[in-house]
Amino acid sequence: MGFYDLYDAMLPGEEQDLVAAAGDFCQGEFSAHLLESHNKGQPYDAVWIHKWARAGFLGLQTPREFGGHDASFVCKIRVAQTMAEHSFAAAFALNNLQGSATRVARSGSDKQRDALLQGMLSGAILCAPAMSEPGGGSDLGALTTSARRVDGGWLLTGTKSWITNGQIIRCANLLARVIGGAQAGQDIASFLVPLEDGATFRREEIHMPGAQSFRLSHLIFEGHFVPEWSLFNPPGEALKASMASVNAARVHVAAMCVASTRAALREAVDHAQSRHAFGKPLIRHQGMAWELAEVSLRLEAANALVWRAAAAIQAGAPALALAAQAKKFAVDVALWGIDQCLRAMGATGASAAHRLALQSAETRLAAFGDGTSEMLLERIGKELAKEYGLPPIQQGKASA
Ligand SMILES: Cc1cc2nc3c(=O)[nH]c(=O)nc-3n(C[C@H](O)[C@H](O)[C@H](O)COP(=O)(O)OP(=O)(O)OC[C@H]3O[C@@H](n4cnc5c(N)ncnc54)[C@H](O)[C@@H]3O)c2cc1C
Repeated sequence: MGFYDLYDAMLPGEEQDLVAAAGDFCQGEFSAHLLESHNKGQPYDAVWIHKWARAGFLGLQTPREFGGHDASFVCKIRVAQTMAEHSFAAAFALNNLQGSATRVARSGSDKQRDALLQGMLSGAILCAPAMSEPGGGSDLGALTTSARRVDGGWLLTGTKSWITNGQIIRCANLLARVIGGAQAGQDIASFLVPLEDGATFRREEIHMPGAQSFRLSHLIFEGHFVPEWSLFNPPGEALKASMASVNAARVHVAAMCVASTRAALREAVDHAQSRHAFGKPLIRHQGMAWELAEVSLRLEAANALVWRAAAAIQAGAPALALAAQAKKFAVDVALWGIDQCLRAMGATGASAAHRLALQSAETRLAAFGDGTSEMLLERIGKELAKEYGLPPIQQGKASA
């Protein structure tokens, strides 16, 4: 049984074709370009986003009636994995765009779909979720960006931070606290905000050495007007909707970490077979074989856990603990495992000739997006009694 067979067995034929097409796209020129731009300290060229859109992948999960593929969650994961073998950041950033299109297609109003959806599918209107703020990302309930009602719409004031593709997006699905009207705790709404740089909106690039392909940015709003139709989730519903999408995204990030680690291990094993030291291939030195064996062991365990979490999400289960466990474990395996692979190759592993430094720098950031490791442990801890607790002893029944 192959490494991804458990996932692929869940896919109908046309979804397997999508995964194969994504694999073909990522091979060759794109893969080489990802490595070359990383080595120059630049993001990959945005022209590839438009090629990805033309190949239909920004509409991966958009319903067919709107021009998408209506693909399943597991298909989305497999497509992202094929790209994450070449670059974790590119896979993360492209999926972020398609996820925004999916949300607008599935939950947007007619007006929102008319204004945005075709542009989101063609790549003309790139969109990202904008939740985090400079004051903190884990504690979303404490966000301070405000939305004040005015004639015909809303005025937004505040700063959103760490926004993926923030340097190039033309729309943000933004969380803000509505001033007046809603009771505290029920006052967070989301807005689909068209973005044109100008007097009331600007962006500030966040420089992330080694991980430019995320194109991270602050988005700064100072009394920025958005029309009435841009309200996406009303106050009281937005935080819950955002957290539901974050939960699935955790499994998705975990799946990409697995793919990036597998690619690193393949590179290291390949090197250890062809490189000789002390009269034999590196891999035939027990110390080296055991180091890489340990990576393979944790990688396989992460893959099995991620598959279980993915299957649960696909089946519609909340899978709160599983999603958090999958992300926490897969990220830990990636951070440790890719580093082990890099080290196992000697100096060349860290050089521009190999992809290990790219994967190491990019997966490092997987530990933050969609829940930090501490927040994931918090979530798992809260689910312990539900997931693993014994059934309560019923009154009056003697224990055997
Ligand atoms: C590559 C990348 C892409 C991203 N893309 C987006 C995006 O597109 N849109 C978006 O909105 N955001 C995005 N983010 C932001 C991301 O969601 C946040 O980084 C994340 O939520 C953590 O927030 P923070 O960085 O502000 O850390 P903080 O919330 O300030 O946390 C700092 C540290 O304190 C720990 N901590 C916090 N609370 C507790 C607690 N109760 N107990 C123990 N420890 C705690 C955290 O685990 C962390 O280690 C992205 C981040 C990265 C790195």
